[in-house]
Amino acid sequence: QGSRQFHPEDTVIKTKHSVIGGDHFTLMAGPCSVESQAHVLKMARVAKENGATVLRGGAFKPRTSPYSFQGLGEDGLKYLRQAADAFGMDVLAEVMDDEHVEMVAKYTDIFQIGARNMQNFSLLKTVGQTDIPVMLKRGMSATVDDILNAAEYIAAGGNHNIMIAERGIRTFDNKYTRNTMDAGVVPVLQKLTHYPVIIDPSHAAGHTEFVTPLALAGTAAGASGLVVEIHDDPAHALSDGTQALKPNEFKDLAEKAVAVHDLL
Ligand code: PEP
Ligand code: MN
Repeated sequence: QGSRQFHPEDTVIKTKHSVIGGDHFTLMAGPCSVESQAHVLKMARVAKENGATVLRGGAFKPRTSPYSFQGLGEDGLKYLRQAADAFGMDVLAEVMDDEHVEMVAKYTDIFQIGARNMQNFSLLKTVGQTDIPVMLKRGMSATVDDILNAAEYIAAGGNHNIMIAERGIRTFDNKYTRNTMDAGVVPVLQKLTHYPVIIDPSHAAGHTEFVTPLALAGTAAGASGLVVEIHDDPAHALSDGTQALKPNEFKDLAEKAVAVHDLL
């Protein structure tokens, strides 16, 4: 169902505040985790002021260690929803477990399936039975065919509002970057599938200083949008502070990315 061969036109996903895919370029930004009601509101303002129409934020966090901050759960989703509504934005929130799909659906406009869950087939089937758009993140060592088959699990249930996010993969050298961003996968996916391709430069870079160059590379490769982690005080972020952009850094990224997209 995702094949370009049988469906030559781009899938364009329309949410209340965003149009994703085709020639559109969508900025999505927000904190890695929803940290508090006041904080996510502050980050929503920064995101919106710089052109983002989607507010990202994790309330259920897939942390590598069980002892790291796991997220605020449903309260976090409430704060995220309130913040997005205050600024006329869509919500992008991760759902980690099929038991939570119904609950997360009450708050989010776009489901995020995290890299670690890209092949959680029961989760994919469950979100496939909803009509809420899904951002499927590439698994850390997923091949292109693995991604396309994971997307197919969602589509097979009747949900065709799928976007694929490249967030970097594990390679032989991830000493200086957290992952290796595969910019080449953007045109490859666009050839094979009609779904929008989004770049997450934050989890690819792992370090603030590399986020903007990777975002621009992904944009130049033709991505339909970016999802970027932002924080006003990265040193005290509850997760992924090393890769968070401060408000002024996000402003710079957003201006440059829009300019690069406009050149294409
Ligand atoms: C995230 O978006 O905060 C996240 C955990 O991403 P990934 O699943 O790509 O690691
Ligand atoms: Mn993160």
